[in-house]
Amino acid sequence: MARYRDAVCRLCRRERNKLYLKGDRCYTDKCSVTRKGYPPGEHGQSRQKFSEYGQQLREKQKAKRIYGILERQFRRYFKEADRRRGVTGEILLQLLESRIDNVVYRMGFARSRAEARQLVNHGHFRVNDRRVDIPSYLTRPGEIIAVREKSRSLPIFKEIREGAGGQGVVDWLEVDPERMQGRVIRLPQREEIDVPLEEHLIVELYSR
Ligand code: SF4
Repeated sequence: MARYRDAVCRLCRRERNKLYLKGDRCYTDKCSVTRKGYPPGEHGQSRQKFSEYGQQLREKQKAKRIYGILERQFRRYFKEADRRRGVTGEILLQLLESRIDNVVYRMGFARSRAEARQLVNHGHFRVNDRRVDIPSYLTRPGEIIAVREKSRSLPIFKEIREGAGGQGVVDWLEVDPERMQGRVIRLPQREEIDVPLEEHLIVELYSR
């Protein structure tokens, strides 16, 4: 499975936005965007003006980076969103939010989407009592996502429980921290998705 392996804070700096890719560190003064709020590289501190295309491209890159998705898969989500009835940009975000790695992160069972992705990959989660180890699995309303019983006592989950408090749980999910499980109540509305994205720019980019 292909994934980005370079320094992730550079990605936030490139987008001049906190993308919360590193978990706890993102909520501290050590965050690279807080310390160096300009893009990396030799020309990072010079003024940059984007063309219309440049803005659309940056928005798409930002979305891919937030959700940890590479181009081909992201394009597939866009095609699916475009095929469905409704506002394409909002459906695109709903699809991205429904991914199990994102849901695990939103439920507070991981400190970042990258960590959630790894935990899912390693088989620590069950959906409606079935093992699911594919991070791109799209959860549906009504489904119960639970940390596998055997995994609950692992130090990683203890650490996550103790360090919880970064992002709060969202309204479209229900979480039972004692039983280490949660339920997808419904799909999120646009205003409930707190990502700094102007999704209409992504739609415009792919509609060129
Ligand atoms: Fe981005 Fe987090 Fe690194 Fe800050 S600490 S630059 S929010 S990944």
